[in-house]
Amino acid sequence: MTAQMPSCLDAPVLRERGQHEVFCGLTSIIWLHRKMPDAFFLVIGSRTCAHLLQSAAGVMIFAEPRFGTAILEETDLAGLADAQDEIDSQVTRLLSRRSDIRRLFLVGSCPSEVIKLDLEKAAERLSLAHAPRVQVQAFSGSGIETTFTQGEDACLATMAAHLPSSDAQSLLVVGALPDVVQDQMLGLLDAIGIPNVTLLPNANADTPPGIGPNTHVALVQPFMGDTAAELTRRGAQMIPAPFPFGEAGTTAWLCAVAERFGISRDHVLSVTEAPRARARKAIAQAAEPLDGKSVFFFPDSQLEVPLARFLTRECGMRAVEIGTPFLHRGIVGSDLAEIAAGPTLSEGQDVDKQLDRARAARADLTVCGLGLANPLEAEGLTTKWAIELVFTPVHFYEQAGDLAGLFARPLRRRALLQAGAA
Ligand code: SF4
Repeated sequence: MTAQMPSCLDAPVLRERGQHEVFCGLTSIIWLHRKMPDAFFLVIGSRTCAHLLQSAAGVMIFAEPRFGTAILEETDLAGLADAQDEIDSQVTRLLSRRSDIRRLFLVGSCPSEVIKLDLEKAAERLSLAHAPRVQVQAFSGSGIETTFTQGEDACLATMAAHLPSSDAQSLLVVGALPDVVQDQMLGLLDAIGIPNVTLLPNANADTPPGIGPNTHVALVQPFMGDTAAELTRRGAQMIPAPFPFGEAGTTAWLCAVAERFGISRDHVLSVTEAPRARARKAIAQAAEPLDGKSVFFFPDSQLEVPLARFLTRECGMRAVEIGTPFLHRGIVGSDLAEIAAGPTLSEGQDVDKQLDRARAARADLTVCGLGLANPLEAEGLTTKWAIELVFTPVHFYEQAGDLAGLFARPLRRRALLQAGAA
């Protein structure tokens, strides 16, 4: 933080609890299944849930799919059939066909929550029945009062509760990253000299990270409130840091981790000199259309606060409103402290009121969900789909230019359209 600038850390928060427009947590399965090749995600839901998964996955047909939907029929919803018996027989059939499955997640949905189907109980029963070959755990991806990144948080919080205890000193990095980014991160941590780095989600059921008082936790995604709470409950220690977006965010994250392990900032800066220079150069090139422009964030991915820090501190933008589904100061406090006071900080959503504010602000760029983007484009606003930021590699140094480029692209497109129309 530079010279005591008034920041968003102490800014008042506009809390709204009205209609909200977001995807549900089932969406997280699309990126989670890639990080756990021995896992299967069985959604206990409706045809709507199956359609959502299929369209979010790009309607891929797998010979050996790693997620699927057990459809609750009317007899289940009306309580005429014993849904627990149905789950048992579906799972037994699935596991007898698929010897590659080592972890099975029963994923709750709106319909399973509405009929109060106890999936935790089902997971406990099925775990006993299929141990030691398969671990069965349950989490909710329901869209009732949630947002789409909460699916990953719910999944990792459940996993965290079942991890073995350990007193060994370790760094646990929490949050799913694309493999290429994860490899870069592990390379940086190794070069800095961080010992015993473990990951959640862990790729392999046979090598779970141990949790205990000497586990130091660094989050790479800000939507990990429940997982962080569970790890803290198990005695692990959080490392507060800005999130590793852009050059400055990545450097601050690495320095915070290094400091916890007694490694100096100077050492981090010396080891990362070349990638920092590359990142600064890439951002300077890609962010040129962003300089001096305004940005308005609707609450969607929970990445809003760290991204607002990146755009305002590293790309020269001005934030008008930073909306986020949940404002967890314990997690995004370091990013808030880096954002100059001024923008409206809002938590939750009352979509009509927020649309009025966005229309009045007419920011140069509006970051929002898919459902709002097209209508706002039709009104002449330039938009960026928030969900794209979760599906694209955007963390750490080598992706810093691409991250700036993701925000610059809609502004370039709008400029080209306007030039063509003139
Ligand atoms: S979990 Fe709820 S919001 Fe998500 S697809 Fe199923 S019914 Fe729709």
